[in-house]
Amino acid sequence: MKEKSHELRCTGCGARIAGTDATSNFRCAQCGELYEVVYPWSSDGANLPNAGALRWLWQERRSSTLPIDQSGVWRFRDLLPILDDPSHAVTLREGNTPLYELPRCGKIAGVDWLLAKHQGMNPTGSFKDTGMTAALSVAAERGFKVVACASTGNTSAAMAAYAARAGLTSIVFIPEGKIAWGKLSQSMDYGALTIQLKSDFDGCVRVLNDLVKRLPIYMLNSVNPYRLEGQKTPALEMVEQMDWQVPEHVIVPGGNLANSSALGKGFEEMKRLGLISRVPKISVIQAHGANPLYRAMQASGGEQLEPVVADTRATAIRIGNPASWKKAVRIIRATGGWVEEVSEQEIAQAKAEIGAEGIGCEPASAVTLAGLKKLTRDGRIGREERVVLLLTGHTLKDPEYTIDFHRGTLFSDQEASSLRKPPIVLEARTDAVLKALESSIQL
Ligand SMILES: *Cc1c(COP(=O)(O)O)cnc(C)c1O
Ligand SMILES: [Zn+2]
Repeated sequence: MKEKSHELRCTGCGARIAGTDATSNFRCAQCGELYEVVYPWSSDGANLPNAGALRWLWQERRSSTLPIDQSGVWRFRDLLPILDDPSHAVTLREGNTPLYELPRCGKIAGVDWLLAKHQGMNPTGSFKDTGMTAALSVAAERGFKVVACASTGNTSAAMAAYAARAGLTSIVFIPEGKIAWGKLSQSMDYGALTIQLKSDFDGCVRVLNDLVKRLPIYMLNSVNPYRLEGQKTPALEMVEQMDWQVPEHVIVPGGNLANSSALGKGFEEMKRLGLISRVPKISVIQAHGANPLYRAMQASGGEQLEPVVADTRATAIRIGNPASWKKAVRIIRATGGWVEEVSEQEIAQAKAEIGAEGIGCEPASAVTLAGLKKLTRDGRIGREERVVLLLTGHTLKDPEYTIDFHRGTLFSDQEASSLRKPPIVLEARTDAVLKALESSIQL
């Protein structure tokens, strides 16, 4: 018999099952909690892969022409052996995203050394690609013909693209009217069946959960534990890009709350294998209008979470009933990180500051910088700490937001900001332009 490469372990009761035995909604049949993927080396010290050999191998693969070696996810496949045959991987060469320095944002936030891991530089423009290549490859290898997700937009864009590459049918459930145009257009472009439900994200999840019980559809929401195996690889990439140094702090936006725990899993596994000597603090930032985790931490230290009705222009994190909140609480506690909330004004200002460094990101990603400012102000992060912001999505995902910010119409009480640069409309005459330049820029 073939040796098991991995199992699923229930994060509630600890029960272990084979990967193929999970129910269609990826909840434990005994206790209803979510699974995580575990490997022989997760608990057994005898099976640990050799850290030095892995580092060398991952470096070597960078010069390979094989698609799975060119992928920034599958290049690390030794730590995610979830496929029977790695050549089954459906890849768009995801990952391999840049780690940028943000000196001006660092100055504003009060830290000496600030970096951004820009996951918006993935093939469909968000970190969801790293998770989707993993989970969709599992779906394809197991013979599923139809995949589906409920999404605030980026998951559907990623799923539609990877499903199209694999020749699978994909069904997208998104909230009606509360989704950024860039994202909606992507799922149509990649040929998904797009269904807009007259509800919010949480309503889309409810319908999808019912549907997968009745039809042979593979669910690709982040309750699917294979997504997190892909989403842990930016942690590996990050420390590789820092020459195997570990930052003190990684700051992540919190929506459905899977990504924070995925990154944590990546760091914890690297520590277990001796690739790094410690795990960074992982902090999660939510929008004030979609802050169930922040409230849960305030009210009960993360013991209980009350769903909220979510509202924020940062649509990627407009989620009131986050599925993976317990996983997030565990990693925040284990690493000593924080949970903060930020206002719509703070998000808009931070997004403009990231844009003004020539980087740009979507609104949900900018909560990281807005949150960092609060954490330094409150003395929770010191000036000398090396901080990495996880920028989750590309600025072109939501151009309407950016234009509304600069025009001053983002929300009714938008404050003045020196970063606002609305377009100037002039007669096509040189003297008119010269006059405008005099008052706008220094020459
Ligand atoms: C999905 C998403 C998030 C939230 O990630 P979770 O894992 O749901 O917490 C944040 N930012 C962007 C751009 C996203 O697409
Ligand atoms: Zn269980």
